[in-house]
Amino acid sequence: MAGRKSPARKAPELRKCEPCNGTGETPRTVRVGRKQRVVGQQSGICLACFGTGEATD
Ligand SMILES: [Zn+2]
Repeated sequence: MAGRKSPARKAPELRKCEPCNGTGETPRTVRVGRKQRVVGQQSGICLACFGTGEATD
């Protein structure tokens, strides 16, 4: 019987990306034309985390 192994490593802290709240996607408003008429919303990849949902620095 070997002694109990204690986990030596702590799990790395994952910080949620703020702009997308950890989802990796951000809703963006779609506008068209010169008047920038709003035609709807589309989810797009978050440019802050590139879709991973994790904050990087
Ligand atoms: Zn993000």
